[in-house]
Amino acid sequence: MKFKNIIFAATFIGIFINAYAQNNDEKVLAQIRAEGFLNSQVMSMLEELTDVYGQRLTGSREYLAAATFMSNKMKALGLQKVHFENYCNNCRGWSMKSFNVEMTAPNFMHINAYPLAMSKSSQGIVEGEVVHIPSFRDMASVKKNYSGKLNGKIVLAGSVPTNKPLNEDVLKRYSNEELKKMEDKLVPKTRQTPLPELFKSWEESDKYDQDALKFLEAEGALAVLKSRSMLLGVLHPDGTYYYKINDYKPLPYFTIMQEHFGRLARMVKRGVTPKIRLNLETEFYNEQGNNVNVIGEITGTDSKLKSETILIGAHFDSWHSGTGATDNGASSVVLVEALRILKAIGYQPKRTLKMGLWGGEEQAFLGSAAYARKHFGKLDEKPNNASKKISAYLNLDNGAGAIRGMYLQKNELARPVFQNVFVPIANLSEGTLTIENTLSTDHVTFDHYNIPSFQFIQDKLTYNNVTHHTQLDVLEYVPEEDIMKNAVILAWTIYSLSEMDSKVPRKVTD
Ligand SMILES: [Zn+2]
Repeated sequence: MKFKNIIFAATFIGIFINAYAQNNDEKVLAQIRAEGFLNSQVMSMLEELTDVYGQRLTGSREYLAAATFMSNKMKALGLQKVHFENYCNNCRGWSMKSFNVEMTAPNFMHINAYPLAMSKSSQGIVEGEVVHIPSFRDMASVKKNYSGKLNGKIVLAGSVPTNKPLNEDVLKRYSNEELKKMEDKLVPKTRQTPLPELFKSWEESDKYDQDALKFLEAEGALAVLKSRSMLLGVLHPDGTYYYKINDYKPLPYFTIMQEHFGRLARMVKRGVTPKIRLNLETEFYNEQGNNVNVIGEITGTDSKLKSETILIGAHFDSWHSGTGATDNGASSVVLVEALRILKAIGYQPKRTLKMGLWGGEEQAFLGSAAYARKHFGKLDEKPNNASKKISAYLNLDNGAGAIRGMYLQKNELARPVFQNVFVPIANLSEGTLTIENTLSTDHVTFDHYNIPSFQFIQDKLTYNNVTHHTQLDVLEYVPEEDIMKNAVILAWTIYSLSEMDSKVPRKVTD
């Protein structure tokens, strides 16, 4: 009888605890949703960041001003241990002051142009005839054909870009079929290059145009204009990658709209020589204090678990022509908003919730790599014990589109973890889980240290054909509902991971 009672009592208590746990999760989710959808600050923060602070090129004064704004915001929201950590001691700063490019003959046309990062100033307003050099692949023949012919000229560099088809959808969201295909994938197809090897290959590929630029400058060319196949006049002025203090400084170097490039090149071919008048004023500086990651946290409260961390990150730097709204201002602000929501509902996390806004991602994951080296050990050594205290790293860097699921980054053991995360928010996100790797951003750094590292699947919207690294990377292409939703999903994901009994499992290494 007694025995039976004990079983009865234990069962009852068990049910009670389960019901309590479930109700508590439901209550927290309802609070997160209310705070994130009814009191959202995400768009207002992004508006101030992008409109007032603007572009955030690595190493620039604009980057530091924006980082200071964000860190003040984080402090005001009650985040703890908000501070900067330097990520580079030999990265130079560069800012634009003024530029203009015009065709003056055979008649007038204003040219839609933007200088490439790290270009030198012109000698005031300069004017010269156009020479078109369609390829630089064989530098020996370029030198043979153009030596002595470029003094005072403006060089049109590269072949004429082909038009992008205009009948494709400009704004893209994943269809259910596409998501199912991602989820059904059994074998990840994307090959991940080991990080040290990747960094080494970039050091070489970053300087791909140096020989050509040095030759043109030595021959007395005034400026170089290049272009790229884009939709409807969009400019794509990202590189150059000459971002270190002692790197080469290119002569005035612009990207111009492909339609203008085409007109100039066709005239040259026809034997009509256009003239270009331009000026460019830029500034270089050596201010290593601009190269900072922004770090902050909500310290954990469970005596055993607070030494463990859920780390979330997004790169904060951008290229210089747009305002970096979709790459990666929106995601940076979503991280802050997710932690703001958790603070606002009074959530006391078991584990420590830490965020990092990384600099220098566009160059070579400079910010995340410096953070990882400092805290988790050298790239080519075994990850240290501190790395084992990181339960998971979550990264956001796929534009401003709604979260549709997660790339598991070859970590099959994480599938049940994220299934549990996404089930209660099924009406916010499909929660597609794909075993696939996604590459080219900061989670790759933490994955190298065998920290379970993930990047969310997001709708592409106009990222690939309009905003990514272009002058149109601006607030107009960020839908408010998508980023409100992303902040709610992120807050819920962080909460769920922080409440787990154990850390997110490490992947079975291959
Ligand atoms: Zn990015």
